[in-house]
Amino acid sequence: MTSDQSSSLNSFEQTTGQPVTYINPELTPTENAKPGRHVHLQFGYGPMPVTTTGTSTANNKTIFFFDIDNCLYHKSTRIFEMMQVKIHDYFKHNLKLSDEEATHLHMDYYKTYGLALEGLVRNHQVDALDYNSQVDDALDLHAVLRYDKPLREVLLHIKNSGKFDYFWLVTNAYRNHALRVLSFLGIGDLFDGLTYCDYARAPIVCKPMVGYFERVFELTRLSDTDLKRQWFVDDSALNVRAAFDLGVGYVIHYVEDPADLAQLKKKSDFEKYYGGGSGEEGRRIFILTDFQDLPHLVNRV
Ligand SMILES: [Mg+2]
Repeated sequence: MTSDQSSSLNSFEQTTGQPVTYINPELTPTENAKPGRHVHLQFGYGPMPVTTTGTSTANNKTIFFFDIDNCLYHKSTRIFEMMQVKIHDYFKHNLKLSDEEATHLHMDYYKTYGLALEGLVRNHQVDALDYNSQVDDALDLHAVLRYDKPLREVLLHIKNSGKFDYFWLVTNAYRNHALRVLSFLGIGDLFDGLTYCDYARAPIVCKPMVGYFERVFELTRLSDTDLKRQWFVDDSALNVRAAFDLGVGYVIHYVEDPADLAQLKKKSDFEKYYGGGSGEEGRRIFILTDFQDLPHLVNRV
């Protein structure tokens, strides 16, 4: 059992900032020997430590915040679709529904609450962590996520640029899923901390809720005036807008699919968010269509 799995499933407030180490038992010793397979987060799930002077570990620090799912790996892995199948099965077997009823209720809860899980917890007293173990943790990620050397090199390139003090992950998944993804991709040694969506909390607070971002900034000890120096990349239009509206200075929307980009450009507020010029100090959300171009974007801005 890893140090993470053996720790109790506490709520957000009880995170300690202690380092988190995770060795994926699904990987063979040979696979685990490659750089980045072992996950090590020096500040764990936060908060970042406070120095004796009462300030955070670095004054005027700059953090690069990274989303994980469909951002650090390609949508073509179809992990989202795999997850939909697991959720369907969960509805069907745990609530004893037909396929048709399961589909209907799943969609109903998704539309009503934004997360199917929220509907299950509210209306069926489902244990959110049991759901997580049967849905996210049950995904066969080993079959679809490969060791990603080019991704590793992109992240290392940015890390070695000296432009950033810390790399921090922000995910809507629960922490187990995040740690597994990092180990499969081979990037577990490149981040300082992780903020996850705590399914054990009710109501569930996730991106793009303001409360989620506020929690992230609290855990990384950033004040409102620090936000303009921070960087954030995510594949969700809602999430990047939320971060932008909160004042994060460098927000990057990763749009992998040209069809999604075409749709985005049709939105009535596209100019407002992505056009620049009219915004405060010409701020705008940057669009990234190929993750390999991230170092270039970082250098250009
Ligand atoms: Mg994502």
